[in-house]
Formats: sequence, C-alpha cells, structure tokens
Amino acid sequence: MEQLYRETWIEVDKEAIKQNVASLDRLHHGERQIMAVVKANGYGHGAIEVAKAALDGGATVLGTALLEEAIELREDGIVAPIVVLGRTDASGAGVAAKLDIALATFQREWLVSAKEHIEPGHSLKLHVKYDTGMGRIGVRSIEEVQEVLTAIDEESCLELEGLFTHFATADELDLTYYKEQQHRFDELVNVLKSENRQIPLIHCANSAASMRFKDACYNMVRFGISMYGLLPATDLEAELPFSLAPALSLYSHLSHVKHVNSGSKISYGGTYTATQDEWIGTVPIGYGDGWIRSNANGGEVIIDGVRLPIIGRICMDQMMVRLPKEMPVGKRVTLIGEDNKERITIEEIADRLGTITYEIPCLITNRVPRRYV
Ligand code: PLP
Repeated sequence: MEQLYRETWIEVDKEAIKQNVASLDRLHHGERQIMAVVKANGYGHGAIEVAKAALDGGATVLGTALLEEAIELREDGIVAPIVVLGRTDASGAGVAAKLDIALATFQREWLVSAKEHIEPGHSLKLHVKYDTGMGRIGVRSIEEVQEVLTAIDEESCLELEGLFTHFATADELDLTYYKEQQHRFDELVNVLKSENRQIPLIHCANSAASMRFKDACYNMVRFGISMYGLLPATDLEAELPFSLAPALSLYSHLSHVKHVNSGSKISYGGTYTATQDEWIGTVPIGYGDGWIRSNANGGEVIIDGVRLPIIGRICMDQMMVRLPKEMPVGKRVTLIGEDNKERITIEEIADRLGTITYEIPCLITNRVPRRYV
C-alpha cells in the first residue's frame, strides 16, 4: 500500500463481498452463473478489488457498463469472462474481440460496422439486448431480435453468447410492471427455444430480481448493488431471502478541535450559530470528495459510538461537527459504517438525501483512498 497522507478513507471489506455472492449462490443452489456487476468503479468501491473478491466468492462473469471499464480489468490480468452491458461504439469491436470481452448489441447497423473492426482470426462475443420495458437500450420486438440474430449468424467473426433484458421495477413492492416485463422476456425465450436456437447465457435478473424471483432467472443473474451489501430499495429489507453484509465504510478523523463561545458562527454563510459555549471539531472531508453539501441537513457522524451532528455548511474539503466535550485531534470519525455498536448505513443516508443507495458510494470521488481489508 502506497503511503497515504490523507486521513479520510474508504474501507472495503472484501469478505462482505464474497459473503454476499456466496449467499446468492446458495439461494440459487449453485445452478446459475453469477455476473458480478462492477461498473462505475465497482459502484465506487473499486472495480478491480471487488471483481477479484466476487470471483473468489463464486461469481463467474464480470459486468461493466463501458468497454474502458472492461479493458481496465483485463489490463490487471483478470481472465474471467466480461460482458459490457451498455452500448459500445462499433470501433471498439476490434479490441473487445482481441481481449475476449463480450459486448451488448441491439442494432443491425452496429453489427455491419462492428465487423469491419474485427481483425482476421478473432471473433466478437455478443449479448443481444431486448428492451422489455426499461425503455433505455435494446431491441423492442421479437421480429427485430430475430433480424439481429440472423445478422450475427451471417458473420463468422460474430458469436452469439447471450440474450438479456433489464427490469425497471424489480425492486418495487408493486410487481405489476415487473411481471409484464418478465412475461415479454419469457415469450421471446420461448419463441427462440421453439426455433431450437442455442444461446449459452440467458439473463434478466438484477440484484432485486435475483433475490426475489429466483425461479425466473434463466441461467445467469447480474448481481450489482446487493453484492456490495446494499438494498436495491430501502423498503425492501423484509422481502429479501438472506441478510446482506455491507462492504463499505467511510472514515475520517478530527483535524482540529476548538472551544467556541456562545454566538460564534461556523462555516460559509454563518448559517450555524453556537447557542452556548461549545466544542467544535473539524473533519477533513467535503463536497470535493463527493460528501455533498446536503449531508449537512440532519446528517451525523459517529465518534466513540455516539452520533454527533454535522453543523454549518459543508465546504469543498472540510466540514464541522459539534462535540459533546473536548476530544483529541486525530480521533476517528465514522461517516458510514459502525463504531462501538452505533451504525450509519448507506440506506439511512440515501433516505435522508432523498436518493437511492447506488448514488452514495458512486458519489465518493477518487480523492478518497480506498483500503481493502
Ligand atoms: N444489469 C444492468 C444492465 C444494469 O444496468 C445494472 C445496474 O444498473 C445491473 C444489471 C445491476 O443492477 P443492480 O445493481 O440493481 O443489481
């Protein structure tokens, strides 16, 4: 580990990642492949380390959104199958084929262009994306899927490896729309089966679907948010078949401690005024680290197992907390995670900020070092 001067860091518990993958694998009786989704730098946790932990835990395939993210994994020496789930420019087909990275496809013109970039002797693995109702990317009718499949069949440098769709509401309590999407996907699969089409990997389930609807997952699931130990939606806990182990903690320390008189103002805009003589601590994290300003609205940290309020505006690199008493500089501050049985979860922060769990770790910038334990 390189020398870190910064006393604010993320700690990622690799065992938690392994445990979450193993729990899902157990739920599926080891009968389905698990794709560990490590896009967006492993949802902010660090793609390479997470990918390795997930593979150790039983995942067999890795999923990214971008070809660049897949190349980064290959460059680190990871040899597991990788699927790029988003659209890649056709000019990326050559490097993808060379590095044995599968790409998503859903446009016939794209196939025509992609094959021009593939060098002789290489072939490109493809996963056809069917849009059953997410409305993002994908072919929208069975006929169009068949046209794309025929175009793949016609080129020896193109290899059909997968067929997939993505659910818009698998994490909601109301299952109406999820069921419609699942039905559309099942219909397509049945048509292709009746035509005896061989497709090695058929996948539709994200974390929520893979945990809630395990019998509708075909032969691979795409495990993202809950591999990191986070709920796909904060009201879903009771619906899940196993408990999740959160992998990420965020720590800092007190960089300065001072006693201020009643009436003293703290931080930009002077929006906080001490109502009595108070001890104030400074914590070296701010919105430049992705610890956005709205964390001040009711946000707390933990020191010595006690929750303490963030006060005044959060600055780019620092923020202030109110202390119950004098504390030493260097004292550990927990922003996410557990300290002496008190815990601040990403779910709690997401609810307070009016957002989803996914956004919280993704927001934390690369300026915050990630340590792996
Ligand atoms: N599959 C696709 C196509 C995705 O875009 C995502 C993430 O949004 C996932 C799977 C993983 O979803 P989740 O993080 O909800 O498990």
